Amino acid sequence: MYDYIVVGSGVAGSVVARKLAEEGNKKVLIIEKRNHIAGNCYDEDDEHGILIHVYGPHIFHTGDESVREFLSRFTEWYDFGHEVVAKVGNQLIPVPFNLNTLHMVFDKEKADYLEKKLIEQYGEGSRVPIMKLRENEDADVREIAEYVYKNVFLRYTMKQWGQKPEEISPEVTGRVPVVISRDNRYFKDKYQSVPKNGFTDMFRKMIDHKNIDVKLGTECKEVMKFENGKIFYNGEEFKGGVIFTGAIDELFDCKYGRLPYRSLDFHFEHYDKESYQDHSVVNYTVSEDFTRITEFKFLTGQENTDGTTIVKEYPFAYTGAEGETPYYAIMNDENNALYAKYKKDTEQFSDFHLLGRLAEYKYYNIDAMCLKAMELANSLLEK
Ligand code: UDP
Repeated sequence: MYDYIVVGSGVAGSVVARKLAEEGNKKVLIIEKRNHIAGNCYDEDDEHGILIHVYGPHIFHTGDESVREFLSRFTEWYDFGHEVVAKVGNQLIPVPFNLNTLHMVFDKEKADYLEKKLIEQYGEGSRVPIMKLRENEDADVREIAEYVYKNVFLRYTMKQWGQKPEEISPEVTGRVPVVISRDNRYFKDKYQSVPKNGFTDMFRKMIDHKNIDVKLGTECKEVMKFENGKIFYNGEEFKGGVIFTGAIDELFDCKYGRLPYRSLDFHFEHYDKESYQDHSVVNYTVSEDFTRITEFKFLTGQENTDGTTIVKEYPFAYTGAEGETPYYAIMNDENNALYAKYKKDTEQFSDFHLLGRLAEYKYYNIDAMCLKAMELANSLLEK
């Protein structure tokens, strides 16, 4: 009855399902273990009527026109230049560390001198990963690097990953480079926005298609079996394609051991006042046990709210226990090798495709995930 089964209704699953259903006229079944769609982008009104991101702050940012165009079919946007500050002592300093930050933390003469050096060495507008800046041979530049390393990266990264910046994949700290400009925005992309009526609404519209059925609250293994090179759905061999966006180790009962992830505990708090922190996101880079506080009204543009709701993020090591969510793959040689073993095991199935943060053990942004899902759908439809 179905041409494709898509396991998971997050960014990856929703995008691939829509394209297969619409452009290929394929009958698609989405199986989702949670009782809601939209994956970790899921948002909803809290009891005070404030739109919150249940699985932590999500901002859509991209320079890719095709992704923007595709998503724009399902939503209008609240566009804003997302800015983040870090609380360091009594100061709130712009992050990524940029030339404005430089002038806030060094006295004028020194900041002027250091600014010149940075521009000379890297060029105006460039973005330098902190781990690269630390290797600079110039002692003055290294002094900046040490300030940034100590005050922006070290403690935040220890909290987030349980490891020092030099112990984790450079790709991760490279997401937040030192920026040689006066641009205080967190991202450099042309488009920076959230869907006007929320992410859930956007994904609901995306998968609302006559060729798509959605089964919520269903673990794929309740209705599917994967054995001896064959896939079964409801007890019968399924000959269509499967796009799997779930945790690959769990698909195989973690037989080689669990893939390590970092997880987060979200503590939501509501205040009967206009604003809690006057910023959408404040990073706590030198103090506290949580990494950051997000104040939703500044992230979603919601007006006329009754009070304000914030969330604090407390990272911890994912154990797989009931109720925990694996958010971040811990990419390193050992874990990537473990992932590769599971991936190899999927080769026994034909027309079986791994897609997404969990299934690919990767750190995807929303836009990169969309693009990958669009490309997969295109290649399946070309076959
Ligand atoms: N990071 C940091 N201090 C900051 C911001 C980021 O040390 O103030 C590091 C930290 O290791 C973090 C990584 O940079 O995990 C990537 O940050 P990003 O904001 O992209 O993380 P996400 O929003 O995806 O959790």
